[in-house]
Amino acid sequence: MRPFDFTPRTRVVFGAGAINRLGHLARELGFTRALLVADDGVMRAGHVANAIRLLGTAGVVVYPWHAFGANPDSAMVEAGSAFAAPLGVDAIIGLGGGSSLDCAKGINFLLTNGGSMADYRGYGKASRPLLPMIGIPTTAGTGSEAQSYAVISDASTHMKMACGDPSAAVRVALLDPELTLTAPLIVTALAGFDAVAHAVETAVTTKRTPLSDMYSHEAWRLLASAFERVLLHPADLEARAGMLAGAHFAGTAIEQSMLGAAHACANPLSARYDLAHGQALAILLPRVVRWNSAVATDRYAMLLGSPRRRAGDLDAAETLARRLEDLVIAGGLATRLQDVGVEESAIPELAAQAAQQWTGTFNPRPFDATGASELYRSAL
Ligand SMILES: [Zn+2]
Repeated sequence: MRPFDFTPRTRVVFGAGAINRLGHLARELGFTRALLVADDGVMRAGHVANAIRLLGTAGVVVYPWHAFGANPDSAMVEAGSAFAAPLGVDAIIGLGGGSSLDCAKGINFLLTNGGSMADYRGYGKASRPLLPMIGIPTTAGTGSEAQSYAVISDASTHMKMACGDPSAAVRVALLDPELTLTAPLIVTALAGFDAVAHAVETAVTTKRTPLSDMYSHEAWRLLASAFERVLLHPADLEARAGMLAGAHFAGTAIEQSMLGAAHACANPLSARYDLAHGQALAILLPRVVRWNSAVATDRYAMLLGSPRRRAGDLDAAETLARRLEDLVIAGGLATRLQDVGVEESAIPELAAQAAQQWTGTFNPRPFDATGASELYRSAL
């Protein structure tokens, strides 16, 4: 078994109605003046007003900020930091989808350590500790609340930068499945497939450990059983709970195991075509599973558990790829690059960019521009 070194840095508070504990949790952490980073959709759904009320009754002064988009970039994070700098905040709360949580973490880097986002690319570049944070996801997707990385796009190149530090992990992840009931169906599908991709990729990387395996496998079990249910019955709170816990566990697995070729190939597509992260993964992940089959079939078989075989299937990788395709179709997502406007002539440049992605280095089958090109072509 591989060695591992794991420190849980985040207290996880999970359950329907858990949001009502926000004020108490903030007070326990000593929050007095908090920046609340929450996107527009979350504000329209009433979650921001509710959070301000809960924090206000606990005596916490709240400064809401929402001037950022779906893929937060370095310019948005700089604007958030400039907004917060004169306010004297002693805490940050991220409320919303992965973009809210990543944006909150990014602002925290700049507010406490100065400089620009690119200075923190990699891990452990912050010389001063970040402000204490609470992360409250309203979609079941990135699992950002489980990670010590902020994923922020470079405003000029649109490529994603992973900026990590031990103190960028939130102190409390507040997981309330009732908050995810307001997510539109397409958001549920896109975010949910991202979580599925995290479970599948973390289960086979070169960095995985017995501990990350535990999180990957439980994440897959929860997500695979809840994904179709939550799309058919959006008000099914047990299915919502399964998705939220599954996405969190998959996020915890990333913290140990990193990701693989599907994420490496997805990032250039999102940068160039503004394609939703979950949509890019929906097209790529089944192909990556087949591409990895020679080196990862046994790992995929363990992920699927037993009995795993569908009649006529040749191996576990094929079974898993077909199961993933079922989920993509259930989510109403596109299955081919052509369907989202990607032409064959773009592949060489996309493949060159995919080969530069850090996450590709952890894929179980060695991954380079040739491999990326094969994967994109298979997905045309
Ligand atoms: Zn992802």
